[in-house]
Amino acid sequence: MECPKCGLKLRREAKFCDQCGTKVIKPEEVIDLSPILLKLLEGLGTGLKFLGGTIQEWAGSSREKKKDE
Ligand SMILES: [Zn+2]
Repeated sequence: MECPKCGLKLRREAKFCDQCGTKVIKPEEVIDLSPILLKLLEGLGTGLKFLGGTIQEWAGSSREKKKDE
C-alpha cells in the first residue's frame, strides 16, 4: 500500500507514513465503518418513526379535545 499524501510505499501494518506522518487508513478500517453508518441510518429511521407517532398522538388528542367542547 502507499501513503495517500506523498505516495511513499508503506508496510502493510503501518499506521502512519514514515515520511510525512499522515495517518494511513487501511481498506479494512473503511469497510468497518459501514455497520456504524447502517446503525446511524437505522437510528434516524427510528427517530423519524417516533416523531411521526408523537405527531399522530398530538393530532388525535387535539381532535378529542374538540369533541368535548
Ligand atoms: Zn506520506
